[in-house]
Amino acid sequence: MKGPVEPFKIKMIEHVGMPDENRRKEAIREAGFNTFLLKSEDVFIDLLTDSGTSAMSDNQWAGLMLGDEAYAGARNFYNLEKSVQDVLGYKYMVPTHQGRGAEHLMYSHLVKPGQIVPRNMYFTTSKLHVELPGGKMVDSIIDEAHDPENEHPFKGNFDFKKLQAFIDEYGLDKISFVNVEMDVNMAGGQPISMENLRKLREFCNDYKLKIIYDATRSSENAYFIREREKGYENTPIIDILREMMSYSDGCIYSSKKDCLVNIGGFLATNDEEIFEATRNMVVVYEGLHTYGGMAGRDMEALARGLREGAEYNYLKYRINQVRYLGKLLMEAGVPIVKPTGGHAVFLNALKFLPHVRREQWPAQTLAAAIYEDSAVRSMERGAISKGRDKETGENIFPKLELVRLTIPRRVYTNTHMEYTAESVIRLYEKRDTIRGLKMVYEPKYLRFFQARFEKISL
Ligand SMILES: *Cc1c(COP(=O)(O)O)cnc(C)c1O
Repeated sequence: MKGPVEPFKIKMIEHVGMPDENRRKEAIREAGFNTFLLKSEDVFIDLLTDSGTSAMSDNQWAGLMLGDEAYAGARNFYNLEKSVQDVLGYKYMVPTHQGRGAEHLMYSHLVKPGQIVPRNMYFTTSKLHVELPGGKMVDSIIDEAHDPENEHPFKGNFDFKKLQAFIDEYGLDKISFVNVEMDVNMAGGQPISMENLRKLREFCNDYKLKIIYDATRSSENAYFIREREKGYENTPIIDILREMMSYSDGCIYSSKKDCLVNIGGFLATNDEEIFEATRNMVVVYEGLHTYGGMAGRDMEALARGLREGAEYNYLKYRINQVRYLGKLLMEAGVPIVKPTGGHAVFLNALKFLPHVRREQWPAQTLAAAIYEDSAVRSMERGAISKGRDKETGENIFPKLELVRLTIPRRVYTNTHMEYTAESVIRLYEKRDTIRGLKMVYEPKYLRFFQARFEKISL
């Protein structure tokens, strides 16, 4: 057998178009060589993101019909609250329209101007929601995470020496809280170990520092703990999740990923003070505290999806499908981030296109080239995503300049993985012919979404 066997069967399908070569060339030019600006109808296989792109189960669709669209106190809110309590073990939950809504409420409450927030690497919207109230996100991830070739099993781990150095440099009162991402997206979907989470709790207890998780990909992280960490080989995923969460003071969660729904988010905590403050602010920015910007039916699909996304057989198939795409590429010598992560395969654009200078955006260039070749849509995760230094205004060139092939959950077959691999391998064989890009339009916030480019002429 090649790819992993799917633990489900297909009951409904969606047609997709296959634009011809002329249309692909025209479409990527119209989109300013930014895959975010392509129209979905011009895309054959959409690996832009795993966010909100999951296929729901019949059980979730049935749940949609049970949406209680009362303004206040909908039964679906209580179902969601119960799911969060059962799967993650937190007492309190505040729903939001999606993850960044929860980040806004949590981080604007905790961050004071001039404070820093150490995190295992960074995420775009998280970094911005720490900066808006006047804070700064700083990186405390282990060095191995910045090395695409390093096969460390838990590249999402914290480096306690780096954390200590921030405390020594800034002083304890300048540390707002410690922020922990699960299955670190920007590092390639790399997990953090239970041992590291436990040690982080001890470390932060010594300094009375709060720990807030970005638990967005915690179920996939839990699978890796079960697969790789001694003592967890036979532990149910839910027990792993509850232990992980027990080392935190709360979390924000974008349910558009591991919860197998198209929209939604929440924050959860055992801390009454955080709960009080955020439950008060949710009515200002999102909606009443029993819907937070979601329809009753969306909360029901989420309540069910949080449970389904934590099933072992599903996660095993999920992680192994991503690994299958990674394996096909590695066997052909294509440089990817190792080991393959939880939700995506990341191409190392600096090694793929060594002749394209950093100022000509190698990852952006490669993502555009893949689309042009096969109508497969991927995403830049490198200097364009990282943005400019807040103080100097200069471009930051992170060590990782990557293209992300993100696999939506339960949407594509293993044959789709093979088609994608063939396109990337074809491009790798003629990589010398690929030219870089020039940025011609740059928006102020989260520039990767809307920036436009032109091909550099010979
Ligand atoms: C997607 C994501 C967010 C933001 O959530 P949205 O639902 O897109 O607003 C925050 N953190 C991580 C790690 C994410 O992947």
